[in-house]
Amino acid sequence: MSPDAAVVGSGPNGLVAAVLLARAGRRVLLLEAADQFGGGLRSGELTLPGRVHDLGATVMAMTLASPAFRELRLQGVEFAHPPVAAAHPFDDRPAVLVHRDAHRTAEGLGRDAGAWLATVGATARAGLPLVELLLKPLGPWTVPPSAFARAARFGAMGALPATTFARRAFGTVEGRAAIAGMAAHSMLDLRSPITAGYGLLLASLTHLVGWPLVRGGSQVLADALVAELRSLGGEAVTGHRVRRLAELDAPTIVLDVTPRQLMSMADLPGGYLRRLRRFRPGPGVFKLDWALDGPVPWRDPAVAGAGTVHLGGTLEEIALSEAETAAGRHSPRPYVLLVQPYAADPSRGGHTLWAYCHVPNGSAVDMTDAVESQIERYAPGFRDRVLARHAMGPAVLEAANPNLAGGDISGGLASLGQFVRRPVWSPAPWRTPLPGVFLCSSSTPPGPGAHGMGGWQAARLALRP
Ligand SMILES: Cc1cc2nc3c(=O)[nH]c(=O)nc-3n(C[C@H](O)[C@H](O)[C@H](O)COP(=O)(O)OP(=O)(O)OC[C@H]3O[C@@H](n4cnc5c(N)ncnc54)[C@H](O)[C@@H]3O)c2cc1C
Repeated sequence: MSPDAAVVGSGPNGLVAAVLLARAGRRVLLLEAADQFGGGLRSGELTLPGRVHDLGATVMAMTLASPAFRELRLQGVEFAHPPVAAAHPFDDRPAVLVHRDAHRTAEGLGRDAGAWLATVGATARAGLPLVELLLKPLGPWTVPPSAFARAARFGAMGALPATTFARRAFGTVEGRAAIAGMAAHSMLDLRSPITAGYGLLLASLTHLVGWPLVRGGSQVLADALVAELRSLGGEAVTGHRVRRLAELDAPTIVLDVTPRQLMSMADLPGGYLRRLRRFRPGPGVFKLDWALDGPVPWRDPAVAGAGTVHLGGTLEEIALSEAETAAGRHSPRPYVLLVQPYAADPSRGGHTLWAYCHVPNGSAVDMTDAVESQIERYAPGFRDRVLARHAMGPAVLEAANPNLAGGDISGGLASLGQFVRRPVWSPAPWRTPLPGVFLCSSSTPPGPGAHGMGGWQAARLALRP
């Protein structure tokens, strides 16, 4: 029997869409190109037997804060919090430690304690209603009217470039660098608008929901979604790459793919096609996974308790690194985003570690030495701990997941212009001009992150009578 709905791609957005459609009584067929479900939620033994590595997302703050996942109430997924949410080490002074507790974090920031509480702390105090507005930038909202006033206050700070905001609001090297480390997750030049907003949102999530990991690896979350789909009668298939929509026999089609793929899958009306062609990709990443024989030997031992570590030193150095990437160059001292899952979750077969730096889209440059040198800078002797390493540049990432085009893990540049014009300007950008065909990937609002909100929006539209 043919399905009521076909979902193409099993990243968090595709999986959320599939489960919501199945819960609404639709017969769902989920098709995944890879031999494993999950997209950015996949885990696997990348280095040594028994070592579990996340191929993509590890830090599940967006998942915990997401209206989609709170609505799903999945069973069997446990979140593990590291003792410290995030750390930011320096060459010449103690690291900034970002704790679940905003006041404890502020205490470590000396003269900038008040600035942290007035900016990041205030964003966290605005709570989940503010997060709902940011993760559903085009609605529909269920928040109280007070949330809009708080969003306006957040908007006044968040609209700024991170460099401007950090210099205006913070007076210390530590405070400014902490904001830069958070804002650089956006993969944008930190002199661009809204980069302060990314920094504030991510930093505030440490206080609001924490920056936890899924115990056992992110794959556990993907598998729980697939199990839920199957328990509702849905069918889920791996190893099936859809190349043309004509292959699919279903009145509703939800695509967890990039606009570029959508363009190759169907003949689209000219106007829409032209708008899709204007959608710009983001930079790529160069990712390394390591199996270690023990913890990273951080010069500042407090960094050992952090789930996430931002490497790159001062605001100025991080801003320079991101500006280089945005200009199409490789930074010799790149901003490095590092995750040490063992700080929270000992069930991954030992000390595994991953880190990436940003590179121009499609880069073929091997950044192993640049990334490892940045780690050595704050953890002398790190390389002696390495038992095995696994590197993935843009081409390898894209081969594993066609959505990571040119190594872009954001599904398209996450700039101000492409925040809601994602991939086209429309009150419902999840809808395509093809009847019954919806787009749900991170190339739709609210963009990147393991929040599943693109899938939630696409399913909601698909279920509309
Ligand atoms: C290295 C890395 C680290 C990250 N870290 C974090 C983090 O810590 N926290 C966080 O919140 N986010 C993180 N992210 C981002 C997050 O993983 C993504 O934003 C999220 O996975 C996007 O979800 P998606 O459903 O849109 O697409 P994806 O997760 O990319 O999934 C798309 C799926 O569709 C499949 N597919 C594509 N085309 C086809 C086709 N034609 N036919 C069939 N199947 C197809 C792909 O194989 C893939 O499985 C990270 C990403 C990467 C790569």
